Amino acid sequence: MISQGVKSTEQCGACGGVLVRDSGQFVHGGRLWWGSEGRCRACGHGWCEEDTGGPTPEPLRRALLAKHGAARVRTAVPLTGRVGLLRALREHRGLSLAEARSAADELASNGLTGTLVETELLAAALRRHGVEAVVEPAEPVPGASSGGSSGQDSAGR
Ligand SMILES: [Zn+2]
Repeated sequence: MISQGVKSTEQCGACGGVLVRDSGQFVHGGRLWWGSEGRCRACGHGWCEEDTGGPTPEPLRRALLAKHGAARVRTAVPLTGRVGLLRALREHRGLSLAEARSAADELASNGLTGTLVETELLAAALRRHGVEAVVEPAEPVPGASSGGSSGQDSAGR
């Protein structure tokens, strides 16, 4: 499963202790989900919030991008299957034809950036339509260390 998470701490509303919040994006059933879960170290007060495929809240996206860096998806060169590409964009992103054309041009030139989960999901949608797509880091990942090629988040335990 493709997922990416970020941990943050805040003050527990129940006891004032340190509450650790674990938030992230993941793909389930071909859709983008986000989730957020918090647990207090002191009193065990915890909760779980989830949304089902709706837009990821901007603060969470920003936190993921800050921690992991942006990813970029682009179509392989030479481009195969522009019709499939347009169809994938329209289905996956609900774009109009004109919007899909401009997104397709972006994909074939500079690529489209987003979080890793967003770009992997788009790449998977493209591949289902027979379009070769690659996902790569859009910029040097902050604090990246060598190793861990599978790249799943296992930070801070
Ligand atoms: Zn507490």
